[in-house]
Amino acid sequence: MKKIQMVDLQSQYYKIKNEVDNAVLNVMDSAAFINGPEVKSFQTELESYLDVKHVIPCANGTDALQIALMALDLQEGDEIITADFTFAATVEVIHLLKLKSVLVDVDYDTFNISPEAVRKAITPKTKAIIPVHIFGQAANMEEILKIAEENNLFVIEDNAQAIGSDFTFADGTTKKTGTMSTVGTTSFFPSKNLGCYGDGGAIFTNNDDLAHRLRGIVNHGMYERYYHDEVGVNSRLDSVQAAILRKKLPNLDNYNDARRKAADYYDEAFAGNENILTPKRAEHSTHVFHQYTLRITNGKRNELQKFLTEKEVPAMIYYPVALRKQKAYYQESNDADFVNTDKLLDQVISLPMHTELDDEQLKYITDAVLEFMG
Ligand SMILES: *Cc1c(COP(=O)(O)O)cnc(C)c1O
Repeated sequence: MKKIQMVDLQSQYYKIKNEVDNAVLNVMDSAAFINGPEVKSFQTELESYLDVKHVIPCANGTDALQIALMALDLQEGDEIITADFTFAATVEVIHLLKLKSVLVDVDYDTFNISPEAVRKAITPKTKAIIPVHIFGQAANMEEILKIAEENNLFVIEDNAQAIGSDFTFADGTTKKTGTMSTVGTTSFFPSKNLGCYGDGGAIFTNNDDLAHRLRGIVNHGMYERYYHDEVGVNSRLDSVQAAILRKKLPNLDNYNDARRKAADYYDEAFAGNENILTPKRAEHSTHVFHQYTLRITNGKRNELQKFLTEKEVPAMIYYPVALRKQKAYYQESNDADFVNTDKLLDQVISLPMHTELDDEQLKYITDAVLEFMG
């Protein structure tokens, strides 16, 4: 059996090695390393895949979030509501810009930000909501967009984990995650569903003025060459990464299907075990399984992880600490308002999830989990 890895990027690369190698060598030959034609072509292809008017490529998913916030003209101390249960980057950029993060609870079943908790957290200083489409499934955007409209708030979708996922609104219309709100962001970190072979990221919007602004901010606040109208940043997707992404984007739907197939296998194997809760698939969203995350309800999550390690099955705890309790982002809070987040911190365990898992590996992993869980 092939060694089981949390993410197997090497096997995935070997399947498209010729194409990718040629694309990279062509960039070398062209010597157009920065803002070359590959970047422009990738941008256009991603716009068409997502059905969004503007894609602004940038250096990574954290920059994408920061630049999105910079473009909204927020003032020091403005409040941004986001989930207590997410990767730290989402909150980090809020603090970098001297804005105030207001962390709220998530839904127990979907791990996504709870619309009720968002509603309760709104104050006169609230300016934006950042839903994170966590683990590959869209947050409840129907509700979040409604709350935003009622309260005149921006919505920034952190789509680093869910690219390719579809959200269906109550009226039947479907949109890609990251394209439903004021602005969306993503990351092309290698292990993400659409990963490059280094760092990369992008920002999405349907708003022409905002797109213009974002393009200026990523480029030193320059709207006309050597005229700096505002303080910007330098954040670029390089041509080599764009060339690689152009080879991977046409495979994204197949990659997401392969992840769903592995998830189906897991779901079936664990169905009926009274101490294992499999990830809920929300009706409003397709799931692209950036992570496949179980909840272990008998208090033995840590022992399970240890057992799996001994069996050479990697398993990770995403995420072990609430952001509101992190030193950098500490927020005075009443634990009674974070019942779901706190339960999840003790119960979640993510199993290997990638595009290259075969049945032999999946059987080995599920057998090992069930051997321990009974
Ligand atoms: C990965 C990730 C990011 C940051 O992306 P980088 O490219 O690593 O900067 C932001 N938010 C979420 C939810 C992520 O998973």
